[in-house]
Amino acid sequence: QTIPALLAECVAARPDAEAAVFPAENLRLSWSEFAQRVDALAGGLLEIGIETGDRVGIWAPNRPEWVLTQFATARIGAILVNINPAYRVFELEFALRKTGCKALILAERFKSSDYVGMIRDAAPELASAAPGALTAGDLPDLKSVIVCGDAPHPGCFSFAEIEARGAAVPQSRLDAITAALDPDDPINIQFTSGTTGLPKGATLTHRNIVNNANFVTAAMALTEADRLCIPVPFYHCFGMVMGTLGCVTKGAVMVVPGEGFDPESTLRTVSDEGCTALYGVPTMFVAMLEYEGFSIFDLSHLRTGIMAGSPCPIEVMKKVQKDMNMSEVTIAYGMTETSPVSFQSSIDTPLDKRVSSVGRVQPHLEVRIVDEAGHVVPVGAEGELQTRGYSVMQGYWDDPEKTAEAIDADGWMHTGDLARLDADGYCNITGRVKDMIIRGGENISPREIEEFLYTHPGVSQVQVFGIPDDRFGEIVAAWIVPKPGTSPTEEEVRAFCRDKIAHYKVPAVVRFKDALPMTVTGKPQKFVMRDAMIEELG
Ligand code: ATP
Ligand code: MG
Repeated sequence: QTIPALLAECVAARPDAEAAVFPAENLRLSWSEFAQRVDALAGGLLEIGIETGDRVGIWAPNRPEWVLTQFATARIGAILVNINPAYRVFELEFALRKTGCKALILAERFKSSDYVGMIRDAAPELASAAPGALTAGDLPDLKSVIVCGDAPHPGCFSFAEIEARGAAVPQSRLDAITAALDPDDPINIQFTSGTTGLPKGATLTHRNIVNNANFVTAAMALTEADRLCIPVPFYHCFGMVMGTLGCVTKGAVMVVPGEGFDPESTLRTVSDEGCTALYGVPTMFVAMLEYEGFSIFDLSHLRTGIMAGSPCPIEVMKKVQKDMNMSEVTIAYGMTETSPVSFQSSIDTPLDKRVSSVGRVQPHLEVRIVDEAGHVVPVGAEGELQTRGYSVMQGYWDDPEKTAEAIDADGWMHTGDLARLDADGYCNITGRVKDMIIRGGENISPREIEEFLYTHPGVSQVQVFGIPDDRFGEIVAAWIVPKPGTSPTEEEVRAFCRDKIAHYKVPAVVRFKDALPMTVTGKPQKFVMRDAMIEELG
């Protein structure tokens, strides 16, 4: 099935039911209104020369225009390129050039800091071009820039203008284009989070993401009666596949608390809108649980949701189940390259497994765990997780070399994650291959030490990683964000570890910081912490 076909089903089934809510913009759309705006935008894109297979970039935070663009590009088979809202000049240009975007949609607030001027600098002809009709020098493919909102911007289209133009395009013209789409055509280039370095652009098809969104929401038993709060970025597969597309697979309402995550607006939205489901990465849930006004919000409608994206500490999962009323919360594991989810717990998963594992493999996927030589390891042993099946991306856009490193000749995606599978098929993600600490020949899993440190009463968030050492090769370092109102010391944390974990795992260096360096998707960037700590230690 294609994405537009899926949306058409929602419209046919319940045209007047609520589809999308954006409290910050005071916008509520029913399925038929949503589809109408999608069609108007799709028509407008056709009018400015966007065709099936063309790339359209979007560089914006979680705004209504984002979701409309997601479904409008899919309607005409244009490939949506999600561009990190944290990007600045250099990276934006790189992403646009790499994917050959023909149009770029950007948020007005980026415009106000003269990003359009910046794009013109990168593409000198843009400045002199007629309004909207832009041609580029350095960005030879970029023809149009569309600014979110209805305000005019010289040299650019306004979003409203494109929608207005498209409203005149006959439905039959759109339907003919949609009917010709192939589910195996690429529809998104989704960039990874950039947790371990520069983000990579995974090319995904309708088949990849429609199926995944379907299975992910099925595991939560999401239905049209649900209202899903989505504070995770649309930029990322968590927001745009598991979130918005997931809602469309089930006819559930998407509720978007605001442009970026903050604990207050998310809790308020869940409370005001009576949300039944909530997504978040672990650090978002921690921020909500620790929010000082937490108790004034009404979370009584919450039932389920997903915690995913990085290791989900057991303590945090338990609190979310109890204090946030999300007794049916599930954990998911995945990566952008696999559309994204490959493991997920479900409401049928026994409670202890639901907090301690990432659940079982999703339907229609194969998984295996292999050692360094590529041999499958015995049940319970640790190795690299590999996955195969419908969800594996076509490849990294315009990067056959990196693609070949990631997907082998037999179609196995090498995840770069370490995992164990138990006899019942429950999976534990034990770390990233790249993050493994090797201290004097001893392999140490940072994850295990992090889980232990989370049991310390003064620890709000912690990341453990290796730093170079003359004697041992690497030693264990811990970056700790203390709980508000506590002030643990290095000596005390080390003493806390001493009798409870093996001596070589006790962090040799402990530093207390206000925050963890994060990607836009809310993932701790160990490489940034490692570099900072190395510098600090001299
Ligand atoms: P990059 O590949 O650019 O360095 P990234 O791998 O973080 O960044 P994503 O595709 O967003 O980019 O994230 C996938 C990764 O997130 C997985 O490979 C895994 O390491 C981690 N991850 C996702 N879900 C979980 C989970 N439930 N538990 C542990 N780790 C997880
Ligand atoms: Mg990755």
